[in-house]
Amino acid sequence: MLIAGNWKMYKGPGETREFCAAFAPPDGVDVVLCPPFGSLGAGVASGHTIYAQNVHWADEGAFTGEVSTKILLELGVRGAIVGHSERRQYFGETDETVARRTVAALGHGLKVIACVGESAEERESGQTELVLRLQVESVADAAGTHSNLVLAYEPVWAIGTGKTATPEIAQEAHALIKSLLDVPVLYGGSVKPENAEELLSQPGVDGALVGGASLDVESFTAICQAAARFHS
Ligand code: PEP
Repeated sequence: MLIAGNWKMYKGPGETREFCAAFAPPDGVDVVLCPPFGSLGAGVASGHTIYAQNVHWADEGAFTGEVSTKILLELGVRGAIVGHSERRQYFGETDETVARRTVAALGHGLKVIACVGESAEERESGQTELVLRLQVESVADAAGTHSNLVLAYEPVWAIGTGKTATPEIAQEAHALIKSLLDVPVLYGGSVKPENAEELLSQPGVDGALVGGASLDVESFTAICQAAARFHS
């Protein structure tokens, strides 16, 4: 089981140090923290496993506002999230750029959590399967079943909304995703201590990508403890 905490644009270096000093992940679960770029160094210094929230495909170059695998590796960062729905929604990320980021990061030895998921409109109009198929196949075609690759199923309508996919929805989506690319699949979307156990116990759910509830040491620890109970 892998539990990843996506801090989005929260926690500067000071708060990162505070969180990391108070956080003790339980045995039997892999835990990674994904602070914003400016707090990566503070996270790495704490000794916890740190991933970035994005990474560019080029080794270096004129790409203002981006960060390379080379820079992340020099900092001691071990992996990166790519294709988060907030990147797709607000910053023009496409299946093609997500695939390019994935390939470059894996090629340089970073671990990757590549995110996929349908919007509320796509689900309501019966397009969930098509959307997931396109998103997953684009990563699958580019990267294949790489041992450092993990996917995250994050239905956009469940992110930061307090709405969680039912265990049946999660299970169905995970089964589809795994049939297209056989790698571990995390669930993401309003995972909290109260629902973690039920979601994590579903077949095909190999962990969680946690946003809001990862900002608080107690709630994130409780989610990690729930995962440790399903340790495989
Ligand atoms: C996320 O940011 O990946 C996420 C799932 O957020 P939340 O847990 O807040 O819905």
